[in-house]
Amino acid sequence: MPENVVAKNIIIMGPQGSGKSTQGKLLAEKMNAYYFSTGERYRTIAKENSDLGQKVKAFLDAGELVDDPTTFELMDRELSYTQGGFVVDGFPRTLVQAEREMVPADNVIYLKVDKDQFIKRLEHRGREDDTPEQIATRLRLYEEKTVPILNYYREQGKLIEINGNGTVEEVHTLILAALGMTR
Ligand code: AMP
Repeated sequence: MPENVVAKNIIIMGPQGSGKSTQGKLLAEKMNAYYFSTGERYRTIAKENSDLGQKVKAFLDAGELVDDPTTFELMDRELSYTQGGFVVDGFPRTLVQAEREMVPADNVIYLKVDKDQFIKRLEHRGREDDTPEQIATRLRLYEEKTVPILNYYREQGKLIEINGNGTVEEVHTLILAALGMTR
């Protein structure tokens, strides 16, 4: 196996604006692994002119989480595309989703970012679903629903906490080091 190619399955977590998509993609590239983001998939689905598209758009517009049956179906499909390792960004988002154990993760990377940092980053990324109301709803949901998952993975000994406040390069380096990979 070439150096740095590690068949690992990684979940990347962090609040909105923590850089998890940027870091997830960089890591997947380095690992030669399949990357997918449930949020990205949902933003694409929301543009489709279909019942599913309309349903998903309503959740996204409200800043709410998409319902579990729809999300489990999306995950089943995406996981069926993965062969070697993969990096999942955006799933699980709730303890119920985590406890379903759909993702055979070796490690869960949690990007810890100070609140003023991620608010600043969100102001710059200019995504359609980044109105102040949507941001506030997602932040509340994150604290209520997603933070409890951290303990779940901590107890399984899978959680790796990374200081996500640095530059893209700095954070990438920290992630590789924590996974025992060289640059
Ligand atoms: P993200 O790009 O990860 O911030 O996700 C954007 C939006 O997609 C979220 O606000 C949710 O509406 C939806 N979404 C992404 N992942 C999930 C998930 N695992 N469960 C439910 N909804 C999700």
